Amino acid sequence: MMKYSYSSRTKNLQGDAIEAVLKYSSMPGYIPFSAGNPSVDSFPVDEIKEISARILEEQPNIILQYNVTEGYHPFRDYLKGYLKKKYNVGKDFDDIVIISGSQQASDLISKGILNEGDTVLCDEITYMGFLNAFTSYGGRLKGIPMDDDGMNMEAFEKALETEKNVKMIYTIPNFQNPTGITMPLAKRKKMYELAVKHNVIILEDNPYGDLRYSGEAIESIKSMDEEGCVVYVGSCSKVIAPGLRIGYAVAAEPLIRKMIECKQTSDVNSNLWGQEICYEYMTKYDYEGHLKFVCDLYAHKQKIMFDAFKKYLSGKMTWSKVEGGLFAWCILPEEINMNEFCQKALEKEKVCVVPGDVFSAEASIPCNGFRVNFSTPSVEQIEEGVKRLARLI
Ligand code: PMP
Repeated sequence: MMKYSYSSRTKNLQGDAIEAVLKYSSMPGYIPFSAGNPSVDSFPVDEIKEISARILEEQPNIILQYNVTEGYHPFRDYLKGYLKKKYNVGKDFDDIVIISGSQQASDLISKGILNEGDTVLCDEITYMGFLNAFTSYGGRLKGIPMDDDGMNMEAFEKALETEKNVKMIYTIPNFQNPTGITMPLAKRKKMYELAVKHNVIILEDNPYGDLRYSGEAIESIKSMDEEGCVVYVGSCSKVIAPGLRIGYAVAAEPLIRKMIECKQTSDVNSNLWGQEICYEYMTKYDYEGHLKFVCDLYAHKQKIMFDAFKKYLSGKMTWSKVEGGLFAWCILPEEINMNEFCQKALEKEKVCVVPGDVFSAEASIPCNGFRVNFSTPSVEQIEEGVKRLARLI
């Protein structure tokens, strides 16, 4: 067999860690606390069937054809108005590109702006899917310590002043993956002010923003943007269906132009069938009613999980405050080795959780937490899984 010589940029990709996370979560007999999947009960299957049949009947020559890279125009126009009206996202200087899941934004923006050795600042524990994209384009990650309510702003300011070639800040302000933490308004404002001062782009990743179950919605960083320094990324994955692979990015027109150029060499255009499904579903069906249905579904599961934490795990471990999203973050007492615990949870108790260090921006950052998901398991599995974790502790 041929010996392959891979690019040095991609040699540290953590594909194995992600695969390990997903492997057991679909196996019978295991309690799936590890996946980040939406619940299958949240998919609007009948509506998608209906729309699919209609668009194949009425416009096969459009949805089966290539399309423009920036996205299906009626859908782009609609989303622009929707995001502006509902979230004040998008100014006159902004534009939008439809992408193949919000994940693609990490790739396009990295390809477009990062040079070898440029620094990306991020929470010290954050979504590895985006981190892997940054490093695969030569980005250097600098993890910023976190408080109970997200990135520590003093440490962030210091990093902006001392780190070399800081090009971008990556943040998930709502229901962060993996910690579930939401950044308060004051921190968002501070982050924006500092980014403008230091001429650094903020990549605001907001796939979970619509999934709020308690507390008040907080303004996005993009809504404060007067300088074109924020790239806002959203997704249809968690609120319609991830299999459609539809997301979007809103940013200043020149940055969107650059992302479109980069997308041309990646996949030409996002799946048009998926774009039309999302467009029709958002415009011709009760989309707001559906959002409420999904939130109610997850709010219930979240409550079951946190009640079970209180019942079985009080005094044995702590967990972060979570007002939405799909995840809870559990922190073990110092004397318990986190990786050993997660391994034993899998082997002895058949409970799949994600070891927190998978999400560490830098290998040297100590981590005694692990991530659990409450959207995938059934209510019975949630109660049983938490009981088993308590038994193991
Ligand atoms: N950002 C975060 C924080 C995520 O957790 C995920 C998916 N788990 C994504 C982006 C990518 O989602 P998608 O590509 O399906 O929109």
